[in-house]
Amino acid sequence: MAAGSAGEGAGSNTELPDAGLDTGRPAAPESTMGGETSCIICFERPKSHLAVPCSHLCVCGPCSELMRECPYCREPVMMWLAPRPV
Ligand SMILES: [Zn+2]
Ligand SMILES: [Zn+2]
Repeated sequence: MAAGSAGEGAGSNTELPDAGLDTGRPAAPESTMGGETSCIICFERPKSHLAVPCSHLCVCGPCSELMRECPYCREPVMMWLAPRPV
């Protein structure tokens, strides 16, 4: 009987490079990223929406839909505007 294929032992991956994890970001509250300020809610998108009437441009579109008050000054928001520079 030729049963001689027990060469590999316990193939345990002890050295796993933590690839894919992107949680080690330093705290960056409304910091400028490449000249564009990021949304103060999700920090993922640039600020694109402006609260009325306090006029704080502080969140992105998706976050603005969740905000009933300005996340910056807590003033009730009547509506969100999306300024469109030309
Ligand atoms: Zn956002
Ligand atoms: Zn505000």
